[in-house]
Amino acid sequence: MIVVVGGGIAGLGCAYRLQTEGFEVEVLEAEHEPGGRMRSEERDGFVLDRGAQFIASGYRNLHALSDELGLAERVRPLARAENAMLRDGRLHPGDYDTPLAFLGSHLLSWRAKARLPALLFELWRHRRLLDPLRPERAADLDVEDLGTWLRRRVGAEAAAYLVEPALSATFDSEPEDLSGAFALLALRFVLGGFRLQCFEGGNGAVTARLAERVPVRTGCRVTSVERADAGVLVSWRESAGSDERRADAVVLALPGSRVLGVCPSLLPEERAFFEQVSYVRGAIVHLMLERPPETLPCYGVAFPRPEGLDLYGLAVDHHKPGAAPAGAGLINAALTADAAARTWEDPPERLVELVVENLARTPVGRLHPSDAVVHRWDPMLPQFRAGYTRRLAAFLGRTRRTPRIHFAGDYLVGPYTEAALASGLRAADGVRAELR
Ligand SMILES: Cc1cc2nc3c(=O)[nH]c(=O)nc-3n(C[C@H](O)[C@H](O)[C@H](O)COP(=O)(O)OP(=O)(O)OC[C@H]3O[C@@H](n4cnc5c(N)ncnc54)[C@H](O)[C@@H]3O)c2cc1C
Repeated sequence: MIVVVGGGIAGLGCAYRLQTEGFEVEVLEAEHEPGGRMRSEERDGFVLDRGAQFIASGYRNLHALSDELGLAERVRPLARAENAMLRDGRLHPGDYDTPLAFLGSHLLSWRAKARLPALLFELWRHRRLLDPLRPERAADLDVEDLGTWLRRRVGAEAAAYLVEPALSATFDSEPEDLSGAFALLALRFVLGGFRLQCFEGGNGAVTARLAERVPVRTGCRVTSVERADAGVLVSWRESAGSDERRADAVVLALPGSRVLGVCPSLLPEERAFFEQVSYVRGAIVHLMLERPPETLPCYGVAFPRPEGLDLYGLAVDHHKPGAAPAGAGLINAALTADAAARTWEDPPERLVELVVENLARTPVGRLHPSDAVVHRWDPMLPQFRAGYTRRLAAFLGRTRRTPRIHFAGDYLVGPYTEAALASGLRAADGVRAELR
């Protein structure tokens, strides 16, 4: 019996893979519904993606899994996938089909535009080290934070009005909390073919389908995982009380910042790695609207820091097929880490107000939502800070390992669903290699 702790995409993907290979598996999930940060909910005809907002054409593992699960026909392109950037109170369309189109845009000065090829040169120069699903291979490039690295490569203007806001809006983090190496990996992924997509009916379709295929025990909070004899003893708490089970191996598919809380008795080098894994906490606010706002003819809008808003960006969800009833509008906005921390204890209505007030200061204008839902996340996304991929490389390449305990989760590959799934599939490979 293999026990997988955590029923997000990493844990469910791992369990599914092990089960198809003939292992008996059980997933233990603390929440009352599986899916973790890839879960959707319905509300009055709207489908809200609580966590992961979109998938992409380059998510190879996720697409292969969707095919296997019979979900391929639910993968749909967004009705509109263009992005925009706010600068000096104006929205600048950000999807440039050709370099010529970009040169014609008013987002950046000529001087800033002229420095951008330096990024392409960096990508080309380091191409052998840049595998987005193997971030540890970029360890030698991981020497400084994103802001410092960008200002040196492309200057302050392109950093502040193009690359930093795009990455902050996607990964809900300040440039100081990401590394330059991480930016190269993300750019490499995007330039390698990246059309925005979603699952019709919500991105939680894939975790929900996986949870139908593998046994999942929900409402089951694992409290301890310890080596016992040749196996592992897993203890948990659920509404019926406490219980435990002996497993041949355990996969800890929890956010990395939660691992030591349930499994303190790892080897010192493993403990040292987990002690420095950190996640940003954050909040997103969904606004349901009677009509789509005419001011938003695009999918994503990023808000550069100098514009002084409390938001990293917004996404126009009614461009996702099936996300909003016909004729209605749905958008969601992500608070900055700072604003999320400031309002953490506030009632949800206060966050809705904050978002509406912020958007009223932009060309989006004042919105009048008929309803709104706030999702607070702690942990939200792992922070690939300067030096993190070096520590990750040391952890993944360690020569001594706690036997029978394996790890999966987005913090091992990247802060997105494809990366989390890749980590789960690798954990399944690790279990197979150890037990067979
Ligand atoms: C707001 C938001 C927007 C995002 N947008 C995107 C996007 O557009 N595209 C994209 O690709 N990615 C996006 N992501 C990232 C993506 O959702 C995550 O990287 C991915 O879902 C993480 O999967 P995971 O399985 O590693 O972790 P999780 O999904 O966090 O799974 C871990 C599970 O462990 C459970 N757990 C924790 N403690 C215990 C315990 N003691 N016992 C039992 N169970 C426990 C948790 O309840 C959880 O279900 C977004 C994330 C958030 C939060």
